[in-house]
Amino acid sequence: MSLDEKLISMVTKKVLEEIEAKSRKSRSEKAIYDDVDRAVEAATRAQKRFALLDLEKREQIIKSIREICLNNARFLAELAVQETRMGRVEDKVVKNILAAQKTPGTENLESKAWTGDRGLTLVEMAPFGVIVSITPVTNPTATVINNSISMIAAGNAVVFNPHPKAKHCSNMTVELINSAIVKAGGPDSLVCSINEPTIETAGKLFIHPCIQLISVTGGPGVVKAALSSGKKAIGAGAGNPPVIVDETADFVKAAHNIVCGASFDNNLLCIAEKELIVVESIADKLMGRLFKEGAYILRGKDIDIMTERILGSGDIDRELIGKDAAVILREIGIEVGRDVRLVIMEVGLEHPLVFNEQLMPVLPLVTVPTVDAAIDIAVRAEGGYRHTAIMHSKDIDNMTQFAKAIQTTLFVKNAPSYAGLGAGGEGYTSFTIAGPTGEGITSAKTFTRQRRCVLVDAFRIV
Ligand code: NAD
Repeated sequence: MSLDEKLISMVTKKVLEEIEAKSRKSRSEKAIYDDVDRAVEAATRAQKRFALLDLEKREQIIKSIREICLNNARFLAELAVQETRMGRVEDKVVKNILAAQKTPGTENLESKAWTGDRGLTLVEMAPFGVIVSITPVTNPTATVINNSISMIAAGNAVVFNPHPKAKHCSNMTVELINSAIVKAGGPDSLVCSINEPTIETAGKLFIHPCIQLISVTGGPGVVKAALSSGKKAIGAGAGNPPVIVDETADFVKAAHNIVCGASFDNNLLCIAEKELIVVESIADKLMGRLFKEGAYILRGKDIDIMTERILGSGDIDRELIGKDAAVILREIGIEVGRDVRLVIMEVGLEHPLVFNEQLMPVLPLVTVPTVDAAIDIAVRAEGGYRHTAIMHSKDIDNMTQFAKAIQTTLFVKNAPSYAGLGAGGEGYTSFTIAGPTGEGITSAKTFTRQRRCVLVDAFRIV
């Protein structure tokens, strides 16, 4: 560890200790519980009170949450980067703002009615009750903001069990959200969390009799654990999104979008571009343009050294996840005198980084002779997660062919991947993309159960 890194580490530890000490005094008042049972009891009580409030009040509470999260977007982003040592503050500010502004509220709940000779039948979206939400280290605060709004809009309470390595920033977000709820006249601990979250506390929450729904956002392990719980679970899992550039693409725009998407928050988003597959006839022009966009192009033996550094042990080195490109380059002895956002390296078709979710701003690039070959390798690289794919093309047939072959939850064309989350693209935002269980880009209605109410031979007004 260099002297600078030691200093940063000491300062970070001190800041986190101070935050911890300040908030320890009245933790339970702030909806952070030492004990799983107490957290679930408090959330259950809160949900019962919340169920008595009307939709207008629910919206007032959500408005208050949006406000506090917007006002603290930078504070929470700084806290997240200090604690997790992953990502970029500016990009995490954007993520927090997106979650606060573009997560749908109660307008997302649509009831349905049938009327006819035999009366009126109504289908309404009801809450599950108390949800446990498991959140990742990669988007800690934005996921808590997004899940809180979605789950509350649907009428539920939520107990968070955040990633242990992001517990301070996640629980600070919960405390802020709880204070906003109480300020707007809602019940305390409608959104609450566990003081020392672990895999064991998550396991206890999964089997707690008062938890009606499990929502997990993370890698394959946690999705499997949730789906083995015997309860209804919404699983948002890993991906390995390929990006194809075909011969018809606007290569200037494509290069810009690829650098923006793959470098955003140092590639921590599960939807971010993870491998670049380029049709040969456009490859040189695209590479030239990627360089102009500020990407650092690794060549020759440096590619092998980088591969060894990232994957030497066989698995992705977690120390490098979410680090700045300049820091990762320094790891292999390359100093750059500028803020490089992305490293690109041309590799062979079977290179391991093409098939691994690296979660860092190092993008492997492969070239192929045709779009058919590009689609073939993209489908293999995506690994069957059916998560996200990106394409730069002007050919509608190529786009259709890729979409049909890859079958991903998100398919973004001619834009950075984050356009798929409503950032520069149409549609709402979510940080829980439920591919494995099929709910897709989650929102309030994902966290509801349908209830049918039937009144026979009455209430027809025609
Ligand atoms: P992770 O799987 O290590 O941890 C995620 C959460 O699950 C953490 O809170 C962790 O404590 C918990 N957890 C892990 N194993 C568990 C188990 N067996 N039982 C109970 N809880 C368990 O993932 P991470 O490093 O925090 O996040 C990165 C991963 O998450 C990537 O694979 C990324 O693609 C994925 N991700 C997916 C989405 C999505 O919406 N699909 C969003 C963000 C991240």
